Amino acid sequence: MEKIIKFSNASTHFYFDSSFKQVTKIAGKKSLVVITDENIFKAHPAAFKGLNVIVLKPGEAYKVQATVDEVIDTLIKMEADRQTVLVGVGGGVITDLTGYIASVYMRGLRFGFVPTSILALVDASIGGKNGIDVDRYKNLVGIIRQPSFILHDVVFLQSLPRNEWENGFAEIIKHACIKDAPMFKQLQQESLSSYQKDQQKLSRLIQRNALIKTKVVQKDEFEKGDRRLLNLGHTIGHALEKEYELMHGQAVAIGTTYACHISEQMTGFSQTEEVVALLEQYQLPTYADFDRKKVFDSLKMDKKRERKEMNFVLLDKIGRGIVKAIPMKQLEKIINKL
Ligand code: ADP
Ligand code: ZN
Repeated sequence: MEKIIKFSNASTHFYFDSSFKQVTKIAGKKSLVVITDENIFKAHPAAFKGLNVIVLKPGEAYKVQATVDEVIDTLIKMEADRQTVLVGVGGGVITDLTGYIASVYMRGLRFGFVPTSILALVDASIGGKNGIDVDRYKNLVGIIRQPSFILHDVVFLQSLPRNEWENGFAEIIKHACIKDAPMFKQLQQESLSSYQKDQQKLSRLIQRNALIKTKVVQKDEFEKGDRRLLNLGHTIGHALEKEYELMHGQAVAIGTTYACHISEQMTGFSQTEEVVALLEQYQLPTYADFDRKKVFDSLKMDKKRERKEMNFVLLDKIGRGIVKAIPMKQLEKIINKL
């Protein structure tokens, strides 16, 4: 199924339920350069036959300028020019890198994504944020630019490691919490393995989530309003991720739980137990014995801080997220009591 989504100065063609083989038709075989990582390349060798492929080392540690330089060197050797289309086949690291490189090489090439992890399918590949990490600052340098296309081929998921499934479902549950109460109910009735066993059910879920994210981004491409809702669980989550070496999804799950507790005090939210139960149903952690001071200090340094208060995503009820500015002093008190 093809769906064209218009953003402020570009459109993205979504090819849901598609086959990676279509990519040469979509991007044009001659000018196509694929960027992927070793894990995906090794797990699906046949998929890449006959294509120009740049294979990178996997992991967030490589989402840095040195990798950008290395890829640009290779593109120069390949004589890539303005007609070249870059296609990132991989998880969020690969899509971020590909979008960023495509945005700066020769002042911008066309690019597309084939997300291969749940997290990338429902979240990272959508929204046009492309960038790299600098020192310990995630996504410090980057650009907002929409891909020309995003192609979904769930066949890639067959090789996705178990913990990456959980990682992606943390974002799916986040979407349900902020925007989609019926999906929250559906998730309660299913499990990780029931989705893994039923490809159609999984595809439908992925599509629904990709569209939730797309709609939010479309309304607010440059993050002034609604897009902030997508940060549910991410404020405390990022702080925990930095301090305690958790996986992103685990940190977000714990962050979401704390956001629920804070919501109880700020909005009268009364469904924390249901959210916690759902996160646990999908094998996600909901508690961390963290150092309050350390995490609060890390929050203060968050780039989303605005003067003496912080925009915090809270829940009014399941399916309805809201953003509220909380004074830092009050937030400190609440966190100390969590
Ligand atoms: P994200 O979690 O944002 O998608 P990554 O790009 O780091 O971030 O992907 C997470 C890990 O999962 C990486 O080690 C990557 O190589 C691996 N991975 C992604 N997709 C697949 C896949 N379909 N099969 C096997 N490994 C995969
Ligand atoms: Zn996230």
